[in-house]
Order: sequence, then C-alpha cells, then structure tokens
Amino acid sequence: MIIDFHAHIYPEKIAAKASRAIGEFYNAPMAWSGSVDQLLASGAKIGVDRYVVHSAATNAIQVEAVNNFIISACRAAPEGKFTGFGTMHPDFEDFEAELKRIEFAGLKGIKLHPDFQKFQIDAPEMDPVYEVLTELDMPVLVHAGDARFDFSGPKRIAHVLDKHPDLKLIAAHMGGYTEWQAASEYLVNRKVWFDTSSTLWKLPVPDAQKLIREHGIEWILFGSDYPMWDHEDEWKRFEQLGLSGSDKDAVLYKNASLLLGL
Ligand SMILES: [Zn+2]
Repeated sequence: MIIDFHAHIYPEKIAAKASRAIGEFYNAPMAWSGSVDQLLASGAKIGVDRYVVHSAATNAIQVEAVNNFIISACRAAPEGKFTGFGTMHPDFEDFEAELKRIEFAGLKGIKLHPDFQKFQIDAPEMDPVYEVLTELDMPVLVHAGDARFDFSGPKRIAHVLDKHPDLKLIAAHMGGYTEWQAASEYLVNRKVWFDTSSTLWKLPVPDAQKLIREHGIEWILFGSDYPMWDHEDEWKRFEQLGLSGSDKDAVLYKNASLLLGL
C-alpha cells in the first residue's frame, strides 16, 4: 500500500499554466501539468492507493475558490483515492468559519506555502489560525525551507512548534528544502513530521538516511510533489534509501494512516 502525502492538483483549465509557473520558480523541469487525470496516471505506475491533494491560494481572495476546488475534486475522485487538504492565507479574515466549513465538507487538513503566499510561517498573525487548527485537530502541511527565502526555514518552523506543541505539523521536503543542515539542527527530535518530496533528487542518499535515522522512521511520510516529479522517478529515488520491511511500510503508508486517522 502506498499513500502519496504530497500531490498538487489544479483545475484542468489552468493546470498547464500553473505547472509552468512553478517550474520557473524552482528552475526545474515539471514532469506533469497538474491535472487530476495525469496525477492518477502517474501514480498508477507505482501503485499509489491514496493521494493527499493540495492547492495553495496565493492571496486571501482565492481561498474559498481553491478550497471548493479541492472539495469537489475529492468528491469526484474514486472512493478513497483522495484525501483533501485545503488552503488558508494570513489575510483571510474569517479563517475560523472557513476552516470549520472545509472540515465539515470532508477536508482533513491544510497546506501552507509561505514562499508563494509571502508570509513568515511564525508570523504572530498566524497564531490564531494554528490555535483553531489545533482545536479542530487538523494537520497542516508546510512547505519547508529554501535557502533563497526566509519564509519557512526550519528555525521558523521550530518557533511554531514551540508556541503550538499540540499542532500536527508536517514540514515538507524533509524539514527544509536545501536547508537540511538546519532541519537537523532545529527540527530533529521535535514533534514534527517530514515528507520525502522534492528532496531525494538533491540530498545525497547517505545524508537523507542519516536525517531519517536521527529523526525517527515514525515521523517520515512518502510524498511525490507531483506535478514536479513523475512517480516512477520519485520511486527510484525512494528505493535508494534502502528501507525495507516495517520501516518501508511506515513511510509508505502506516505513518500517514495514523496521522490522518484512516
Ligand atoms: Zn507542495
């Protein structure tokens, strides 16, 4: 069984354009366009059973529409294929009502991408949002790291953990894209999940193995970061970690199932 904890989807009409823009942002070739159909086709090649799907609103005005898109995509998908994570933005006024609305509609958490959304993950105005998420027991997946910016590095994520010890936070990209040293310094042994997405193409295998060993296998989640990567390519990189038996199952689905209460 495989759960892909980190897949992005976009409405068919804008998928190709959105995917291109992200490719330019990361100066990386995008494997796919980000449509739902292509996600299912890419993941089927390695036998993904369930996808946690995300889409970020780059401003407050888009929040409801993006959440509605995720809700409808989850409803349209084959039973049990999608677990939806919504979006939020610090400028969105009635965040409490919106978080309750999306929870009622079946979404399980939210995704934040501070680099695209232009806010610091530990900004005080986000504290009330984290409080509501904690209250609702909704996990938050945070795009973590990227040495080019100062929005969501491991040190800032550690501040959030300090202030919100009961928040379920997933720091994507093994705790900090291109900031793995800082992830090891500030996040290892904290109550925080890491996902493997967009990491293994850049972080040498021994370093990735060390980070996993230090932090603990029960905190690691498999994620593809589709449409950035093709599932087959991510799978090849994942296999290089040499995980087997219960460790492999933990990362591929058991940790995710526990976290999502599946
Ligand atoms: Zn992402």
